[in-house]
Amino acid sequence: MKVCKFGGSSLADAKQLTKVIDIVLADPQRRMVVVSAPGKRNKADTKVTDLLIALAQAALDGADTTAARSAVLSRYASIAKDLNLGESIMTEIEADIDARLATPKADAGIFMDTLKAAGEDNSAKLAAEAFKARGVKARYASPKDTGMILEGESGNATLDPESYRKLARAFADFEGIVIYPGFFGYRRDGSVATFPRGGSDITGSILAAAVRADVYENFTDVDSVYPVDPRIVPEVEDGIDTMTYREMRELAYAGFGVFNDEAIQPAVQARIPINVRNTNHPHEPGTMIVQSRRVTPGTVTGIASAGGFLNIIIDKYLMNREIGFTRRLLAILEDEGVSYEHIPSGIDSISVIIRGDKFSQAQEKKVVARIKRDLSPDSVIVTHDYVILMVVGEGMAFSAGMLAKATGALAEHGINISMVNQGASEISFMLGIRSADRDRAVRALYAAFFSDAD
Ligand code: ASP
Repeated sequence: MKVCKFGGSSLADAKQLTKVIDIVLADPQRRMVVVSAPGKRNKADTKVTDLLIALAQAALDGADTTAARSAVLSRYASIAKDLNLGESIMTEIEADIDARLATPKADAGIFMDTLKAAGEDNSAKLAAEAFKARGVKARYASPKDTGMILEGESGNATLDPESYRKLARAFADFEGIVIYPGFFGYRRDGSVATFPRGGSDITGSILAAAVRADVYENFTDVDSVYPVDPRIVPEVEDGIDTMTYREMRELAYAGFGVFNDEAIQPAVQARIPINVRNTNHPHEPGTMIVQSRRVTPGTVTGIASAGGFLNIIIDKYLMNREIGFTRRLLAILEDEGVSYEHIPSGIDSISVIIRGDKFSQAQEKKVVARIKRDLSPDSVIVTHDYVILMVVGEGMAFSAGMLAKATGALAEHGINISMVNQGASEISFMLGIRSADRDRAVRALYAAFFSDAD
């Protein structure tokens, strides 16, 4: 069985929903369909989730909700009308939105999540009607009845692991096609809770793991995962056909946008192959993400870059002989509640790389002052706007000269590298550069590893 998840752009209007139905019906293995709320129909459009957030906010502020309510309803109504689904589905959706608006507002987070969840819930109900209108045996399945139990903060909930057993039981045996809403579940006390934004991917991945799907197909609006960001290297044509979970994780870390690595964790843990595909080009095979694959030695799978880091560089003569130096440095970060990303070191120097958005100016001041006071370094320099380049590939392990090729390519373009870090797995290395060099550096690496590949 395949679990397929369709993102918001795949459900944005009747035309897109028709494509979804055609895709699902083209393969009898596609039995569980996870849907997002209708997304943008064009660049200027607004996602239904954002319309619902505006509606919830208006209600919380005690403002007039008429316009915001009809903005939400009209999105569903136009799909229902274009597919000739009849009146009753819209009556149901309208009643659903009104019932949610009438729930208590004492906990604003729960009220907000209750409205946000309406996007996916009604999208699934509408999609189930559209499947039925095509003469298909399909039904909507409710996260409440099937055991999608969440816990934690509103808007940032996580799965209660007990859900796996419940979901597996709920879908041990079923006929036809199940349409399941993404993005939300219920706490044990019955309150609605949503995952972080984009969380329908999480739902799909959880369901794929729970029912032990053969494949988790994630349909979006790109043909595949590309080895480099097409906005930086527009000439990139060939997507990645197969990559491993480890490669995906390393690339996602440095900002590869297709997947959020936390979203696919349930499928990864259950070793379910993930297939990223395009709703608009269903004949494209997309990218498979798997546990292991055959590799060609000396090849790179992808190049990613992530900005917004900062680097605290600490120098001290004879640092390597000073027992406990790093421990005391890390204790300072811990005391100030700062999580670090990397700590590359030399004999007399150590750098701490931190994500800029997780480090306020006040924290920076305090940390630097404490480093000066407690560690008596020769110098402490903070570099802002630091970019990390990641070169990733299972094919790099045990291959000589990969790093030399990368540094050579950057040197040829006059790009200075201020940090090099290679993990023990040898499937990636990272290079720290100035943010002004980012695009040129990515292009230089792409040319070095891909353009002359054969
Ligand atoms: N509709 C939600 C959002 O816009 C969740 C999703 O689409 O995955 O974030």
